[in-house]
Amino acid sequence: MIKIEEDWYKNYKKIAREKWGSEFTLWKAMFRGFIDMMREEAIKQGKENEPINPFSKMLLDVFIDVARARKKGKQIIMYPFNYGPELFHAMNLEPLMQEMFSVGLAPFHINEHYLDITNEIGYGDNPTLCNAQRPLIGSYIEKAAPIPDLLFFLSTPCNSLATTYQVFQHLTGVPTYTIDIPYWSHSPDSTFYDEKTLEYVIKQLKKLVVWLENQTHQKLDEEKFKQTMVWLNQARANVLEFNELLRAVPCPARSIEGFGNYLAMVLRGGTKAAVEATKWLRDNAASNVKNKIGGVPDEKIRIAWPYTHVFFDNELLPWLEENFNAVVIMDILGYYHVPPHDTSTIEKCFESLAKGTLDFSMIGTCRGPIEFYIDYVIRFVKDYKIDCVIMPMQFACKHAYAMARITSEEVRNQTGIPTMIFGCDPYDSREVSSEEIRGKIADFLTEIVL
Ligand code: SF4
Repeated sequence: MIKIEEDWYKNYKKIAREKWGSEFTLWKAMFRGFIDMMREEAIKQGKENEPINPFSKMLLDVFIDVARARKKGKQIIMYPFNYGPELFHAMNLEPLMQEMFSVGLAPFHINEHYLDITNEIGYGDNPTLCNAQRPLIGSYIEKAAPIPDLLFFLSTPCNSLATTYQVFQHLTGVPTYTIDIPYWSHSPDSTFYDEKTLEYVIKQLKKLVVWLENQTHQKLDEEKFKQTMVWLNQARANVLEFNELLRAVPCPARSIEGFGNYLAMVLRGGTKAAVEATKWLRDNAASNVKNKIGGVPDEKIRIAWPYTHVFFDNELLPWLEENFNAVVIMDILGYYHVPPHDTSTIEKCFESLAKGTLDFSMIGTCRGPIEFYIDYVIRFVKDYKIDCVIMPMQFACKHAYAMARITSEEVRNQTGIPTMIFGCDPYDSREVSSEEIRGKIADFLTEIVL
């Protein structure tokens, strides 16, 4: 029985001995770290005798696919954490979601060295620019960052991201394409509807295709594009079902699982691997609902976390689960809520791509008037029977910083639920330590929530 687990573990460890080139040295260090982390998790859950699950497989395979792409001569396109890669898959490119690198280093604290280098060369500081991306610059200077063949980014979710990507573009000279994300809603039901919103994004995505065709010397294969959109729709349907299942009491998933759906959509949206990963998460939740099993045993507190996780501390959520029987239902990135669309024609495929871009995790809630964000949090609190809201907050994230207090007041007024906002840098353990964060959360839960 032990052999199965040993096989996947040994197989990935063997792959980690392949020569990937010096630009993938850190990438490989992360790959090794994640293999060990997944094995430890499997052992902790008593699943060490089982084959690797589709989600873990998808994640580990991303490391391999990106690193091997260079050797195979497949072009790598770097893009940010707020855009689905479906079009890139349809055009035979290897998508590299940049923050998988600059934020993926955070749980191992490897990013902190590169933050120091970034500081030393004088590229911004944390109150001005977010540390989610800043390690990219320091690691580039030390020749430790992967260099893509193409670069793509959007004007959202923040000026901080767009600024760092521009600096990277100028340092590397990598051919780059950007698109502008409009402010207003594309839904005719919204008070903030603007009929030009959707068309504006569709036009830009079509121009992106032309740019990609020129860069890659190939035409968009319409059949492949349609197939990509079919897989995208299947994964979207799985995620939406999962989101519905999480309304159950007790919540059928552990605190980190919603983030798994986000990773599937942002890393492998438009592929079979994402369909399988999201199906696995959905099926587990459905089985737990059916058997009345909670992701957290003896659930006592249901937390809304309408911001990103504290990425340097991947033990924070398990700590909440073990010490307070508290479940974090979903963070803002895990809140992926794009439904399947009609993709029967190429025109419809573009429309679906554009809607998916406008509604992507964090983009849909943060790209327009503050009402987008407030409505999301209040709906979430009501739908998921939330007991309290927790938001780690950093000054560099200016739009979220500006919205947090007003949102917490609206949540209090409309639902009576308390909110805790605490300052920390989710990417740097040296600013506010894990101990300090846990102390603040513990005080809030024991003195106000329980
Ligand atoms: S945390 Fe805020 S500032 Fe940092 S990348 Fe995300 S949206 Fe931008």
